[in-house]
Amino acid sequence: MANYHPSDELLMSFSAGQMPDALGIIVACHMEDCAHCQQRAALYDRLGGEILMNTEDVPVAPQLLDNLLCKLELPEPSAANETQLNSEASAASEIKLIQNLPKPLRRFVNKEFGQLPWSGMTSSLKEFQLPFSGNGYTAKFYKISAGKELPVHTHRGNEYTLVLDGSFSDKAGEYHQGDFILADTQIIHQPKAANDADCICFAVTDAPLKMTGFFGRMLNPFLK
Ligand SMILES: [Zn+2]
Repeated sequence: MANYHPSDELLMSFSAGQMPDALGIIVACHMEDCAHCQQRAALYDRLGGEILMNTEDVPVAPQLLDNLLCKLELPEPSAANETQLNSEASAASEIKLIQNLPKPLRRFVNKEFGQLPWSGMTSSLKEFQLPFSGNGYTAKFYKISAGKELPVHTHRGNEYTLVLDGSFSDKAGEYHQGDFILADTQIIHQPKAANDADCICFAVTDAPLKMTGFFGRMLNPFLK
């Protein structure tokens, strides 16, 4: 059971379907195993429904629905489409159950963590780019080697982190699988992986990290 959860504000915008892909996916990954947040999101779903029910009807032009339907272009089913759909379905069925990989990530990641093509600037910190960055948000996996500490850094924006495997700590706490942590411009920290295992995190940032220590400042130009 996670000890760190998304804020109410995040869960409300998740319920309202107002999140960019990367943020929606990381929140969904946390919620998969968090009954606490599932209940909170269900409450916000109901609240949203109540608000809609209590909203006064707004009169619209009688031809509005017809106009809208005319604008929807429904493609004719074609052999090419069917082939594509079939191959997508078989690819989906081939996706293996990867240990500690939340369901919302399974269509994007089809290898065990150890087999991913990690890249990185240092021997103790590796990264793997996820294919759904966009709208100003970057989505990556980070791997911190067991017992290693990252350079001290702060953030130019928000960094949302979900622990997938192993654990890490900073001066504010210790974070285990399923924990969801927000680091913002106020936080200067130095995450350290536990000694017994590499720590793998799913991180979504809306601005690059900003290193503050001497080595960190040297690395800043490489952080895009
Ligand atoms: Zn939660």
